Amino acid sequence: MFGLYLHIPFCEKKCIYCDFYSIERTEEIDVFTENICREIIMRANTDTTFPQADTVFFGGGTPSLLSPSQMEKILSTLRQHFSIAATAEITMECNPGTVTHDSLSAYRSLGINRLSFGVQSFDEQELQFLQRIHSPQQAMEAMALARAAGFDNVNMDLMFALPDQNKKTWQNSLHKMIALQPDHISAYSLIFEEGTPLFALMKKGLANPAKEEHDAELYEIAIETLSAAGYAQYEVSNFAKSGKQCRHNVLYWSGDRYCSFGPSAHGFIGDERYWNFRSLRRYSDYIQRGILPIANKETLQIHEQMFERAFLELRAKGIRLEQFMQDFSLNIEDIMGDELLWWKQNHWAHISQGRLSLLAKGYALCDELTLTLIALLEKETESQWEQKEYSEERDDEPVFSLPIL
Ligand code: SF4
Repeated sequence: MFGLYLHIPFCEKKCIYCDFYSIERTEEIDVFTENICREIIMRANTDTTFPQADTVFFGGGTPSLLSPSQMEKILSTLRQHFSIAATAEITMECNPGTVTHDSLSAYRSLGINRLSFGVQSFDEQELQFLQRIHSPQQAMEAMALARAAGFDNVNMDLMFALPDQNKKTWQNSLHKMIALQPDHISAYSLIFEEGTPLFALMKKGLANPAKEEHDAELYEIAIETLSAAGYAQYEVSNFAKSGKQCRHNVLYWSGDRYCSFGPSAHGFIGDERYWNFRSLRRYSDYIQRGILPIANKETLQIHEQMFERAFLELRAKGIRLEQFMQDFSLNIEDIMGDELLWWKQNHWAHISQGRLSLLAKGYALCDELTLTLIALLEKETESQWEQKEYSEERDDEPVFSLPIL
């Protein structure tokens, strides 16, 4: 598979926990639209052999802040310069507080066929704490609007392990979401990312991350509740009805290639990964000078490819054992030995259809199990992980206009 990712770096208001690159200067969207179209053309001109794209993903930020005519401009530039399959999945992330019947109908008529709503919670107080711009009611209405506009593939994101969240409020959010019958649900644990206002609150003792056991309990509730409601887990944080797995995410987890556009976007072409400048100013400056806005790039060494393959595949559909053997000349079953037995006895993982896959209990321990596996692979190959130094561009503009409490 081949994919196209577009990062739209604007939000009406920054959420307290958000570490994605997005800014509140929405008056710059018009100029940005011009610039990302130029980047698409510049990138397309670097290579005439890009495969046909199976997925297109507008992420952010808040892509739904773009008007249908701005989206139309970007999509038609993409279609003019890249080949996009007629059956491609074309996803757009939306904030429930920014959509209307007219805007969703217009996006649908442009060929966008999948929406992803950042809902995060159906509890009014939790939403206020997170400084989301929408209410639970708006999230419900957004789903109704999406269906009325003809979208039959809709994701909703929910967050757990929020400060003061208890089992009841989490179950309540899950049930309200299930009642809306989205086709896909992503359930993430809240992370206190350094540099965010939430992190500053934690440092001042004003907000505390959930205890590990509580986090695990809430995660287990999510798995049980969603599975009982017909959502099959196909990755640590992702659940879908039959046939509604997100193809773009599956592409990432399969190590397939993708081109990316927009500030802070990461791409993977051939053997090379690249990432764009985070700062919109610097991004725009490069584009205006006719230069691709790449902050840095790297080619993964063989042991890094192995690490990445194990990490990505284990958290999703499972490690393809034969393929792993072919690509890295390593037999995972032999290398794991008793450890694998231990995983199986604890119902953390199993081997099925040639894959080492996690079971529900194992997903809860995914990070820990991945580290164990990597350590075993490392020991076996005696590779020394090379510490690379990057002069990665970080944002040089203030992202938050919120006072840090
Ligand atoms: S809506 Fe909130 S979480 Fe989403 S990108 Fe914007 S600031 Fe971040």
